[in-house]
Amino acid sequence: MATSASSQLNKAVKQQYMDLPQGDMVQAMYIWIDGSGEGLRCKTRTLDFEPKTIEDLPEWNFDGSSTYQSEGSNSDMFLIPAAIFRDPFRKDPNKLVLCEVLKYNRNPTGRPHESKAGKCCSWSCLKLHLISVIVPETNLRRTCKQIMSMVENNHPWFGMEQEYTLLGTDGHPFGWPSNGFPGPQGPYYCGVGADKAYGRDVVEAHYRACLYAGVNICGTNAEVMPAQWEFQVGPCEGINMGDHLWVARFILHRVCEDFGVVVSFDPKPISGNWNGAGCHTNFSTKEMREDGGLKVIEESIERLAKRHRYHIRAYDPKGGLDNARRLTGRHETSNIDEFSAGVANRGASIRIPRSVGHDKKGYFEDRRPSANCDPYIVTEALVRTCLLKEEGEEPTDYSK
Ligand code: ADP
Ligand code: MN
Ligand code: MN
Ligand code: MN
Repeated sequence: MATSASSQLNKAVKQQYMDLPQGDMVQAMYIWIDGSGEGLRCKTRTLDFEPKTIEDLPEWNFDGSSTYQSEGSNSDMFLIPAAIFRDPFRKDPNKLVLCEVLKYNRNPTGRPHESKAGKCCSWSCLKLHLISVIVPETNLRRTCKQIMSMVENNHPWFGMEQEYTLLGTDGHPFGWPSNGFPGPQGPYYCGVGADKAYGRDVVEAHYRACLYAGVNICGTNAEVMPAQWEFQVGPCEGINMGDHLWVARFILHRVCEDFGVVVSFDPKPISGNWNGAGCHTNFSTKEMREDGGLKVIEESIERLAKRHRYHIRAYDPKGGLDNARRLTGRHETSNIDEFSAGVANRGASIRIPRSVGHDKKGYFEDRRPSANCDPYIVTEALVRTCLLKEEGEEPTDYSK
C-alpha cells in the first residue's frame, strides 16, 4: 500500500508537542485557491489576539509566481480574509481563514470561463479552442458575492454533494489490488465491511473535523466505485456555499495527508466501467420551498434547458473538457451535449427528487457539475439563469 513517508512519522510523539500550552498566541492558517482553480494553498501566521470575525484579521500576501497566479516580475498577491473557521487540527483558539486573492493592483484575479469558445463547434473542436483561453487566474468568489447580493431577498439555498476518490501516493486507487481491479461495481455503494468500504477512517475523521470547524456538512456515504466516497454540504445560503465547500475540501486534503493518502477530485479517475465523480448541486429559493413551489422549479428548468452550454462551460475548471470524460450518458450521468430533466431520473441533467414531485415544493438537483468544479461559479451560474433570468452564452456584466 503506497502511503506517504510523513504518515510513517510517530504520531504519538507529535501529539506530545501539540499538547503544549500556547500562551496567548493564536495560529491563523490562511487558505486560498491557487491558479489551477483546483489546488489549495495555505500558510500560517501568529496573532497576539483571538480573532472573532473577518474584520479582526489582517490582510496578508504571498508569492503568486509560485502558485500559477502571476509573473515573477510582479508577483506580490494580496490575501484578503473572507471566512473564518475553527481549526480542527490545531484546535481552539486557532483558526482556518479562507481568503480571496487580489492582484498587485487590488483587482480580483480574472474569470477563466468568459471566452467565446464553443459557440461554433463540437466538443472535440472545442478542445482546441480551450487551450488558448484558459488563463491561470481564479478568484471567482468576488463576482459570485456580487451576484448573490443581487438576489438576497430570494434566499437562494444550495446543497452540494462532493464525490471524491482516495488514492495511494502512487496514484493507484486506495485499497485496489496492485495488479488488476477489484470486483465489479455493485456491492460498494453505501457498503459496509472490509471488502466493500475502502478507507472509511478518512471519511470519519473528515466528518468530525468539519463539524468541529463549523463547516455545514450534512452527511456522507460510500460511492459506487470502491475507494470513492461522498460528503454533502448544505443547505447553505448564497456565498456561504462556496466558502463551506472549499474549506471542507481543504480539511479533506489535510486529513488525507495525516493518513498518508491522497484525495482526487478528478471527474473520471478510472476510465471504463467505473463511475466518475460529480458534485451534484441542489438549489432552491424561498418561492420554491413554499406551497406550489414546483411551478417555480419547472420555470427554472425551462430557463436552464435554453442555456445548457453556458452551464457546461461553468461546471468544470476546463470549461467542459473535464466533464466530457464523465458525462457520457452512462454510469448515472446525462450526455454532455444534451439537456434533460425528470422526476427521480438519475440519468438526467436535472433531477427533481421524488419527494419534491410529491410535495409540489422543495428544490431540484443539477447533476452536471464535475467533482473538481468551483462552487462559486456553479452557484453563480444557477442564480444568473434562474433568478436574474439571463439568456445566451455569456454572463451579463452588471457593472456597466
Ligand atoms: P442524493 O439523493 O442526490 O444523493 P444527498 O442526500 O446526497 O442527495 O444530498 C442532498 C443535498 O441537498 C444536501 O446537500 C442537502 O443539503 C441539499 N438540500 C436539501 N434541501 C435543500 C433545499 N431546500 N435547497 C437546497 N439544497 C437542499
Ligand atoms: Mn448524494
Ligand atoms: Mn453520489
Ligand atoms: Mn445527487
